Amino acid sequence: MSPNTDATIPAVLAAPDAPDAEDWLVDAALAPLADGSLAPLYAGAAAGELTLPFCATCGLALELEQRACDGCGATDIRWRPVERAGTVHAVTLVHRREPGLVRVTEPYPVVDIELTSGHRLIMTTLTATGSAPAIGRPVTVGFRVVGGVAVPAAVLSTTESSAPSEPSDAATPDSPRATGTAPAPVPSETEVSQ
Ligand SMILES: [Zn+2]
Repeated sequence: MSPNTDATIPAVLAAPDAPDAEDWLVDAALAPLADGSLAPLYAGAAAGELTLPFCATCGLALELEQRACDGCGATDIRWRPVERAGTVHAVTLVHRREPGLVRVTEPYPVVDIELTSGHRLIMTTLTATGSAPAIGRPVTVGFRVVGGVAVPAAVLSTTESSAPSEPSDAATPDSPRATGTAPAPVPSETEVSQ
């Protein structure tokens, strides 16, 4: 009836069943479960916000799946939007071919970002790139849309070539806080083999 269309709705706000543009990296089948334990993350992402967990008692930044605070032991968790900014802590260039699930045939970066909020979050980049961003490089966080679910993605600002060396070695996260991996933004072994 109404001539209303979705044409004016930004991709990150599109309904899950909207015919949004396909993600550059993975097939829609790898979309994360938006109403699972990370529902606050994905609800925030759908609104363009990076929403992450903190200890409700002492305010410490928590990992995505963390159930008790390292600092005070409390189990009350409060999710709230944080600044979408940080630096590259570690980066891995993934060589992988998974036809039907992984859309690219060239290596792609998976970046461990140290956010200004104190969180660490692992994600790939907002747009396709075959090169790994330099360690320490400032990044912001945007959102890819995988199967209608917005997921965090690193936005690399313009000066890609200003970082001379230190390219793509697979840096091993050495901190116990290093593995706040959001499901499905990047295809891990388990995700793509389902
Ligand atoms: Zn605490």
